[in-house]
Amino acid sequence: MHYISTRGGVAPVGFADALMMGLGTDGGLLVPAQLPQVSADMLRDWSQLPFQALALEVMTPFVGGEIPREDLARLVNQSYAGFSHPEVTPLREAGGRTYLELFHGPTAAFKDVALQLLGNLFEYLLERDGGRLNILGATSGDTGSAAISGVRGKPRINIFILHPKGRVSPVQERQMTTVLDANVHNIAVHGTFDDCQHLVKTLFQDLEFKAQHCLGAVNSINWLRILAQTVYYFYAWGRITGGDPARGVSFAVPTGNFGDVFAGYLARRMGLPVDRLVIATNRNDILTRFVADGVYAKGEVFHTLSPAMDIQVASNFERYLYYLLDQDPAAVRAKLADLEQTGALTVEPERLGQVRADFAAAAVSDADTLAQMRETFDASGYILCPHTAVGAAASRDAPDTVVLATAHPAKFNEAVREAIGREAPPPPALSGLMDKPVRCDELEASDVALREHIEATLATA
Ligand SMILES: *Cc1c(COP(=O)(O)O)cnc(C)c1O
Repeated sequence: MHYISTRGGVAPVGFADALMMGLGTDGGLLVPAQLPQVSADMLRDWSQLPFQALALEVMTPFVGGEIPREDLARLVNQSYAGFSHPEVTPLREAGGRTYLELFHGPTAAFKDVALQLLGNLFEYLLERDGGRLNILGATSGDTGSAAISGVRGKPRINIFILHPKGRVSPVQERQMTTVLDANVHNIAVHGTFDDCQHLVKTLFQDLEFKAQHCLGAVNSINWLRILAQTVYYFYAWGRITGGDPARGVSFAVPTGNFGDVFAGYLARRMGLPVDRLVIATNRNDILTRFVADGVYAKGEVFHTLSPAMDIQVASNFERYLYYLLDQDPAAVRAKLADLEQTGALTVEPERLGQVRADFAAAAVSDADTLAQMRETFDASGYILCPHTAVGAAASRDAPDTVVLATAHPAKFNEAVREAIGREAPPPPALSGLMDKPVRCDELEASDVALREHIEATLATA
């Protein structure tokens, strides 16, 4: 299996190199040169497998023989051993709806499903092929803690995560700063999330610094994050249909960077019978507007009750664009140039029909998010996190749509309190956080300061 760039400027690389590269060296996103297809027989056989065994089947063709099957099986098992539910991503009925619970991992949000495995794969490949990796990232909340949890204590890896000081929720901050392993370096930046992201980008653009310090990224542009997330679409489909290939399932996906919903699209392209895929956004509705009128136009970023989706430009959108434009890198580059020059890109009317066949979309206000949380709680006692509530509200017209439950509600207790007047009890992963010791450095929002800090830290690591 080879991976190529959506922009056509990367010579084909294998699975391991694609993982290590993260973003394509031409600025594009890596995609497999061909998508493996699943047959009706495979779907039937896979439908009753436990999550880990299913993950192994789904991922094997993408790994393309670069990792022996026994090793891959061991890495998969190790990655999901820390999940608190035996099914890893169980389905749950509540208030007449079905939720696919993705929050039973060590940081209580769906990003654990991919980042636990990515951490273990990084460790395996570095041990086998030699080398070191210093992960650098910025977070506004969930990604930082999931990435830290995925690589804590691993030799050959350091992780530096920047967060805006005082601007992430207390639980999210503690989930990062209470991790005391020597290879984990939290940095509270005196500035905003945008400042943090800008600092990271500046250092990545310095190719000499990047190479000298083996800097790597873990944001959702990494191919493995998408691949690992396709598994739970297969899992949910098998549990709901009993493996009948004539039956489809619809999903509503709370969406920010378009990673999770793109994983569903990919599963469908591989042959999984997926009916509707609903892109559920909050007030930051660039993707919903795109499905409505074919224009992808940047807007202002609003702060909402579902902060992990407060994003305007969705980094995985380029992967979808690539498939929409018949896998033609020149066409992708032309559209991206429009976006760069004018702040918008437009697809032709005949393509818009395809977009609407691929996705439904709805934007949900904060008021409707709270109303959904209240209604679900009143009807069933089940507490939704605000992101999950956006997914439920966006698919109200079709209650048989499975809603992806992307985080545990206790991570967002301010919104929960506002909706239902009480807090969600913390899962094991979040209890006792406020009483644990913390370690965190503070920096001004300056790339010079960040460079010096990284160099000094690595010199003593
Ligand atoms: C990251 C996140 C999302 C958005 O997922 P994307 O893959 O970026 O679309 C939704 N909900 C929660 C809780 C998240 O942490």
